[in-house]
Amino acid sequence: MIKDNYQQVLASIEAAKSRRREVPKEAPVKLIAVTKNHDVAAMREAIDAGATEVGENRIQEAANKFDALEREVTWHLIGHLQTNKVKQAVKYFQLIHSVDSLHLARALEKEAAKIGKVQDILLQVNLAREDSKSGLYKEELEEAFREVDGFEHLRIRGLMCMAPNYDEVENCRPLFREMYGIYCQVKEMPWQRAKVEYLSMGMSHDYEIAVEEGANIVRVGTAIFGPRQY
Ligand SMILES: *Cc1c(COP(=O)(O)O)cnc(C)c1O
Repeated sequence: MIKDNYQQVLASIEAAKSRRREVPKEAPVKLIAVTKNHDVAAMREAIDAGATEVGENRIQEAANKFDALEREVTWHLIGHLQTNKVKQAVKYFQLIHSVDSLHLARALEKEAAKIGKVQDILLQVNLAREDSKSGLYKEELEEAFREVDGFEHLRIRGLMCMAPNYDEVENCRPLFREMYGIYCQVKEMPWQRAKVEYLSMGMSHDYEIAVEEGANIVRVGTAIFGPRQY
């Protein structure tokens, strides 16, 4: 089941790439299997199907699975991170997608320095300015980039965003398109440390549109694992 779903999502990503217009069709897309609220058995099934990247949104859950999984995978933190958990975050995750404030970036810099790590991060953008979501507003982005680019133990790898939960999924498209434009802009700028190459956007219900509009990382849970039990 998980195996079939995983293959199906990969096929849909390929199909979406072929429908791209402004974005180069061949530009690769990384699929992150979002494993939050699914157990390590399910995670292993996805890994057996070919998954190499997993996404979690809670530190404690990820820490528990980290020891139990016994497989080599790349761990992505995709959920909001509280500053009192940054120590664990830099320990477990290769890429933190959800850096949504300068306050958090400064705390991460401090903890990464303590363990001598250069932590890869994405800056999360709240493009739709939703109160329910975290993230920098687009006009705050350049200043945040400038400051974080000076941090020795953080390396900005790109941008992340979540589209609002529209009834009509097509409504996400202008947002994704705008994000791609912002991504292309910051990618072209001459940063000191930042190495911008990722645009993380698209979840189960909207990843095909995100890929059409230029996402190169999609974070997919439900379409691979089925609905989560809370
Ligand atoms: C849970 C989650 C996802 C995956 O959501 P699905 O709808 O299950 O694909 C993607 N991104 C973030 C930030 C999430 O919290």
